[in-house]
Amino acid sequence: MILDNLPKDPAQRISTLRELVAHHNERYHALDNPEIPDADYDELATELRRLETAHPEFALEGSPAQQVGASASELFSPVRHTVPMMSLDNAFDDDEIRSWAQRLARAIDRQSTDDLVFSVEPKVDGVAMAITYRNGLFAQAATRGDGVVGEDVSANVETIASVPRELTGPKGSFPDVLEVRGEVYLPFKAFEEMNTRQRKENAKEFANPRNAAAGSLRQKDPTVTAKRPLAFLAYQLGQVEGIPAKSPFVTLSHAGMLSALSGVGLPVSHDVVSCVGIEQVILRCHELEAARHDLDHEIDGVVIKLDDLDLRDRAGSTSRAPRWAVARKLAPEERSTLLRDIEVSIGRTGRATPYAVLEPVVVGGSTVEFATLHNEDQVLLKDVRPGDTVVVHKAGDVIPEVVGPVLGGKGKRPPAWKFPKDCPACEGPLVRLEEESDTYCVNLDCPAQQLQRVSHYASRSAMDIEGLGEKVVQRLIDAKFVVDVADIYELDVTALAGLEGMGELSAKNLADAIEHSKQQPLSRLLVGLGIRHLGPTGARDVARATRDFERLRSSSIETLAEINGIGHVIAESIVRFMNNPANMVVLDRLPKLGLTLVEPESPTLSDGDGPLSGKTVVVTGAVPGFTRDEAEEAVESAGGKATGSVSKKTFCVVVGDAPGASKITKAEALNIPMVDASGFEALLETGELPE
Ligand code: AMP
Ligand code: ZN
Repeated sequence: MILDNLPKDPAQRISTLRELVAHHNERYHALDNPEIPDADYDELATELRRLETAHPEFALEGSPAQQVGASASELFSPVRHTVPMMSLDNAFDDDEIRSWAQRLARAIDRQSTDDLVFSVEPKVDGVAMAITYRNGLFAQAATRGDGVVGEDVSANVETIASVPRELTGPKGSFPDVLEVRGEVYLPFKAFEEMNTRQRKENAKEFANPRNAAAGSLRQKDPTVTAKRPLAFLAYQLGQVEGIPAKSPFVTLSHAGMLSALSGVGLPVSHDVVSCVGIEQVILRCHELEAARHDLDHEIDGVVIKLDDLDLRDRAGSTSRAPRWAVARKLAPEERSTLLRDIEVSIGRTGRATPYAVLEPVVVGGSTVEFATLHNEDQVLLKDVRPGDTVVVHKAGDVIPEVVGPVLGGKGKRPPAWKFPKDCPACEGPLVRLEEESDTYCVNLDCPAQQLQRVSHYASRSAMDIEGLGEKVVQRLIDAKFVVDVADIYELDVTALAGLEGMGELSAKNLADAIEHSKQQPLSRLLVGLGIRHLGPTGARDVARATRDFERLRSSSIETLAEINGIGHVIAESIVRFMNNPANMVVLDRLPKLGLTLVEPESPTLSDGDGPLSGKTVVVTGAVPGFTRDEAEEAVESAGGKATGSVSKKTFCVVVGDAPGASKITKAEALNIPMVDASGFEALLETGELPE
């Protein structure tokens, strides 16, 4: 969408793009304070390059499309790079990798790329650094700057723990002058800790690890840098002089060079893999993409490099980037888009949650159209306003988040958003209690609350009534057939068949499903009632301890609080729910409508006496017939341990529908056996891997 507002005329478009790219270059490289997500910047730069190629008449010496980074700042002394520090060309999909490889093959007179060896490495999202060792001693560290002149940040880089002061290995194993290139970065964990500290000190949080690393490096005072747990990974050589004859640095391959670097004590990524042929490269890119959240640092791509150093020389470089390498960009996890509106949704307790209605945008691998904004304070804090362009963040399977507005500084901003005074569903007042951050619709007859309560009751994790989804419930409420959950049991097939979009057969199936749900165990009913603070595990604990609904209804806070796993807060919430007059009317009806309302005895095995005893099992994806909780519970009642992350100790990984890619990759890497959903029951019964 960032391209939508540009002029169509090529000359004007190019000139606008040049201004924009130069501006964002400066924000990113010189000021460490980007305004727009990287993916937006890439879009602008790619478009500019495309136009300059298509219209050579407008091409320009020194166009920002040809530039590497940004000019060095005046904060530090300049350092001239003897060997220029280049940028990398980008490939945005597999086919662009293939075309790059074909161009490369032509440049080095090869028929095919099938027998070429490539190094495939994570593109660490940090700051490029050139570190020079003279006679094995740390001498200087310089940033990339514009590729020719960088900044001398030696004092700061010297504080980084993973940058050795002195190279290891016998004298004569390393060159007299060794300039090593690599990335200074901030590991995820350190980044989170740093932001926690910033929050505590009421200081501004860092937007992402790269910014935090760049900001930490550009400190005038190295003691500030020293407090930031930066790290370094080496991936290349710069200027090298005086290589002793027997040194491991006498090598013809990139892999040999990396192992030489590691041999003298420089840190090298463990995730570098050599691949033969471009298809293997592509597979490895997919693997790294799937595992990107399991690495200890952020990556914004995968770098693919020709391994043979002689062939590299033959391939050569353009003014901006080598021909022998390319960066495969990964699906962006941050994009900008238009915030169309902020609306409010009403939950089953009446809580009014503001959410962003976005111009749909593909981010983190899926299309995002809505994102919760949590509550009034969050909207104010983020200061997002309908009409703003906003940055949306989504990583893997986490829920999408609106980070904040993109403020270009030009033009007037739309007015700030105000929390609506009335409920969008029932027009009753929305009330925010003092000292609370949440706002509520307090009208118990609010149709939006009814809808949420009944849909939640019927949902898979609760009473599991198939065919009673939100749409059908909405129709039942509109037709005034249903107001509360007890009304479900008074529906008859004729009434159901009369609903819009409902045929005879589906009406009958739904009636059967409703009938069937009367036998659901008490624990599911408790989940379905949606009692505040009471989750599925707590519901199970309470149901197992009380067994019977009437007994539960008459239990005191003290009795409930004695149940293992149930604290005072939950106990009090249950009792308050059971004794609320409006709820009591509904609850009184349930037994009369034929619900069994008991918790069956389940053979719970204690640790160590089930078929899976001593074994740890990871479940990923949906196993048909089980919710995630139930699947894990089943593992536990077979004596096993269910955990959420794959490690060397994992016995096996159960793979259901839509499994987590990173778990699979990890299991493959560690050689952990995988069991598909159809083998799950056998696994539970025997404790052994199914055939
Ligand atoms: P760009 O920032 O798009 O110009 O991409 C080039 C930059 O990628 C280099 O200057 C490095 O800072 C960075 N980079 C990160 N990891 C690697 C790697 N494994 N090999 C080469 N460059 C890398
Ligand atoms: Zn309402």
